[in-house]
Amino acid sequence: MEKERRITEAPGIGRKAAEDLHSLGLTTLRDMLLLRPRAYDDRREERRIRKADAADPTISCHITVVSHSEFSSKAGRTLKVTAVDDDGTRIELLCFNRYFLKEQLRTGSDWYIYGKAMRNHGVYQISSFEIKKTMSEAGIGRILPVYPLTGSLTEKMLRRAAEYALSALSPIPDELPATMYEQENLLHHEDAYRQLHFPSSMEEAAKALNTLAFTELFLMELSILREKPGTEQKHSMISRRERSLLESLPFALTEDQIKASEEIREDLDSPIPMNRLLQGDVGSGKTLVAWLTALHAIDKGQQVAFMAPTELLARQHADGAAALLAPLGIRIAFITGSVKGESRKLLLKSLKDGTTDLVIGTHALFSEDVAFRNLGYAIIDEQHRFGVQQREALMRKGQDADILSMTATPIPRSLALTLFADYSVSVLHSMPAGRIPVKTYLVSEDRREEMYRAVGVEFQRSHQAYFVYPRIDDEGEGDLRDVTTMYELLKEKYPGVPSALIHSRLPDDEKMSILHAFRDRKLSYLVATSVIEVGIDVPEATCIVIEHAERFGLAALHQLRGRVGRSTLPSYCFLVYGKGLTEEAKARLKVMKETNDGFRIAEKDLEIRGPGEMMGDKQSGFLHLRFADLTSDLDIVERARAEADRIIREDRGLLKAENAVLRTALQSHRSMIETRHL
Ligand code: ADP
Ligand code: MG
Repeated sequence: MEKERRITEAPGIGRKAAEDLHSLGLTTLRDMLLLRPRAYDDRREERRIRKADAADPTISCHITVVSHSEFSSKAGRTLKVTAVDDDGTRIELLCFNRYFLKEQLRTGSDWYIYGKAMRNHGVYQISSFEIKKTMSEAGIGRILPVYPLTGSLTEKMLRRAAEYALSALSPIPDELPATMYEQENLLHHEDAYRQLHFPSSMEEAAKALNTLAFTELFLMELSILREKPGTEQKHSMISRRERSLLESLPFALTEDQIKASEEIREDLDSPIPMNRLLQGDVGSGKTLVAWLTALHAIDKGQQVAFMAPTELLARQHADGAAALLAPLGIRIAFITGSVKGESRKLLLKSLKDGTTDLVIGTHALFSEDVAFRNLGYAIIDEQHRFGVQQREALMRKGQDADILSMTATPIPRSLALTLFADYSVSVLHSMPAGRIPVKTYLVSEDRREEMYRAVGVEFQRSHQAYFVYPRIDDEGEGDLRDVTTMYELLKEKYPGVPSALIHSRLPDDEKMSILHAFRDRKLSYLVATSVIEVGIDVPEATCIVIEHAERFGLAALHQLRGRVGRSTLPSYCFLVYGKGLTEEAKARLKVMKETNDGFRIAEKDLEIRGPGEMMGDKQSGFLHLRFADLTSDLDIVERARAEADRIIREDRGLLKAENAVLRTALQSHRSMIETRHL
């Protein structure tokens, strides 16, 4: 296909229009083909004047001019043309700012009119209309595209340009291997582009969109999979200390933990660097998978780095590793920004000479002065909290180190397949046995006391609780409850029950000692901001109260709720909401009440907010998808991925005759594919 023919070639596109088109991202005729109409204007049915009513004011019919007159309006002297349709129904054409129509619309002349009429004191009037000499010029009998416009652009200009592009670029070659069209029930591309712009029916328009969505997803997946190194399947042996760890555990791994650690172990043993995402809901046991596979790498003589987003979490993981791994003879180090002076020097030395096997830390691991003897495996906890550069900085510290990114933010499958197409993905769906789902209550203001009593009962059973508020103190928005005020209030409510206040403004070591005291059950409850959102693990905590729950997003609520229900004790989440909930907030709370399944919640989140909002700016690259809708097109995503996988397996080089079209298609869709980056 001639890709470079410019859009200015199309009739009626001058310099100004070209500039405006450019700001919509259109410079070539091909860009015009790829411009997706934002709607369609269905003019297939003739609609005579007396059909117009409030529900559908559209008219679309033949008329004859009867007479002219004038009236004055705010716009000045205004032309009024009276005409009748073939039923003899009268209509007045109010020609605001269109006095020139007087010359054209001569008495007795015939026209086709399209527009929206209204009935005013028994008289039909129309002021916004198109009027053409022939039916086809007026688009009557057709479905017309409605494009996004800007500046000087008009629908008419774009429709003409689209017509032109379709004929100038014809014949438009297929973009997919011949067999795929029938198999996937797609339109051939020439037809797909024509039906996209000028569909013969709404069904054909849908089919065209479906075809183009499939093509776009398929080509994107294909280009990513081609870049990704192939994987060879081979069986990896569990290492000595992995086995020791497994034998020391008081429980068995879940099926998903077994599968994920096998997948990772195979990658670690393969010469191709791993780039794997480990997805699993809060409490699904990702960390254990990380430690097991770390042992695998260490037993091969490699060093392992484990990175957490906050000092607090890093320390909690370091404590966990010390308890589980130190008895196996693993030499563990801990690094954060606050490790300084002589101890830092010693630590850096032990990394460099290889006397540390496993280092756990924050982004301090990226510092210039951190060097390893043999970093083979890097594990990133809560990967979405790190940027791409940080990940790359860590990778540079090892030679082709294997990377495992862990996330407790479940990502709907449609997004995982597209956004993380260059990752291998392992998922922990199942929860460790014996977990009882957290019971969630939506609490209105007048049920507050009841809730306090319920939490009080848990304290009598020596269980613990979190109280979460959106603010640290009552500055600014006065109607929001804040931790400082509530801390005092709760002390009166639960006299003699030990508690602490924790929020992001406390120094890290103070936060640490509070969390330690909580974990050691010296404290019964924490009054907190969402600092406790990520990763804090205290099995005896059975209640979480989240106030102004309507102000938290679904992902945050789910993370917060994941702080409880981490043992075999029944546990409770109270979502307290304020007055005047928006529809969206209501929808969120309803989802929280209905399900504990993080993947379902993520899918609902995607439905409520859409992919752009949900994944944030960082990943907005994939908003450049023109045709596919990740909220509703999961089946297309899956089929496109499956087809791309198949092609890569059969013909990675795209050398087979039937796949030759794909090389051209990848070229011509290049700009689209390149805008998608993480
Ligand atoms: P995540 O990091 O996925 O949120 P964790 O790894 O912190 O989850 O696991 C939560 C808790 O469950 C930890 O106390 C861990 O020891 C425990 N755990 C992990 N795997 C299992 C299992 N298979 N059976 C029982 N408990 C488990
Ligand atoms: Mg975790």
